[in-house]
Amino acid sequence: MQLGFLGGAREVGRSSLLVDTGKEKFILDCGIEVQHGKRPVNLPRNPDGVFITHAHLDHSGFSPAFYSMGYKGKTFATAATFDMAHMLLEDSLKVQLKKRQDPGFSQQDINRMGKKEGILGFREPAEFGSSTVELFSAGHIPGAAAVLVESRKKSILYTGDISFTPTDFMFGADIDRRSPDVIVSEATYSYKDHPDRRKVKERLTSIINQTCSNGGVTLLPAFAVGRTQELLLMLKDINFPIYLDGMGIRATTHTLSYPETFLNQRKLSYAFEKCIKVKRGSARGEIVKEPCVIITTAGMLQGGPAGFYISRIMERRECTLVFTGYQVEGTPGRHLLETGVYENEGVSARPKFSMHFLDLSSHSGRSGLIDFYRRMNPQKIMLVHGDRTEEFAEELKGMGFDAHSPAVGENITV
Ligand SMILES: [Zn+2]
Repeated sequence: MQLGFLGGAREVGRSSLLVDTGKEKFILDCGIEVQHGKRPVNLPRNPDGVFITHAHLDHSGFSPAFYSMGYKGKTFATAATFDMAHMLLEDSLKVQLKKRQDPGFSQQDINRMGKKEGILGFREPAEFGSSTVELFSAGHIPGAAAVLVESRKKSILYTGDISFTPTDFMFGADIDRRSPDVIVSEATYSYKDHPDRRKVKERLTSIINQTCSNGGVTLLPAFAVGRTQELLLMLKDINFPIYLDGMGIRATTHTLSYPETFLNQRKLSYAFEKCIKVKRGSARGEIVKEPCVIITTAGMLQGGPAGFYISRIMERRECTLVFTGYQVEGTPGRHLLETGVYENEGVSARPKFSMHFLDLSSHSGRSGLIDFYRRMNPQKIMLVHGDRTEEFAEELKGMGFDAHSPAVGENITV
């Protein structure tokens, strides 16, 4: 069996893995690197199946391109993933056209993909020629799956993005199939464990209370899918107005229609009803005049209404910006966090508001990954989706694992 690392190796973004069993070719994920629209390399034109682990664009963002290359087959994912990916893909297409990037697919291709949906549930193995493919719940965001491909000779488990620790919003990953030949594992946080979520929630609440009591605005840039819903749940008892702006509004409506994919559905419905949805761009200027919390896209500041809010609170020391998600290298969010300078869409400035990074990750931390490898007992581990995968592979070798950190474009026979 051959594995082709087409993207998202020694980097975060444009995740894509080719599994070639000798009889069938499967594509697991086909994402883009969101900041510059970078794509996976060496995509085959006519695979025997395309699988999407979850809706985030770094895993789904280039998948409609198969239909522009003449692919006639289906794309497979859970129902929740399809629904949310469809929404994110349409938005991403518009954003790329606006930036004068070539997206590599059209609205028609998104529609074609919509007509070729192969909806899979968790633990419902499906046969593809001589192979079987099965999805397992990955605990990352609603609908997120890990994919097990079994051919006659080998089995590969690809984690997608994975989290093992249950939160108020998500179940932990649920994978019981032991001893695959190979695990292709995300390793976003191979170098650290996450702090206790309850403590992070306390810290966030106290930052908000302090900021708002001083007359300031707390700005929470957030991924539309996953993080926005968790923040709404977490902040449902805050005594200051909570505004929800950008794609997170639609994403929450979509999420609520898949109640089996997350926890505390009633509380999320309540929190969503209670928050104030920003429906008109013209309302934004008024919102920042009063103490409040604003949850808005984009999570890494590379678009959405976040830029507008930043420009309005730039000079106000009493305001606060809190990042709660991973900031990919090269994004305005990462740059601001590392240098204190906001550089985006022609603006370059050093904001006066205070800034925090709170770790509310929906990716497994280091210990969770290592425990997982011990439990699963694979022959080989291939590390992807991380900035420090080479280091981690060396560390894992020291622990007795056969680990490797492939590069983009590398093909490995297993
Ligand atoms: Zn993700």
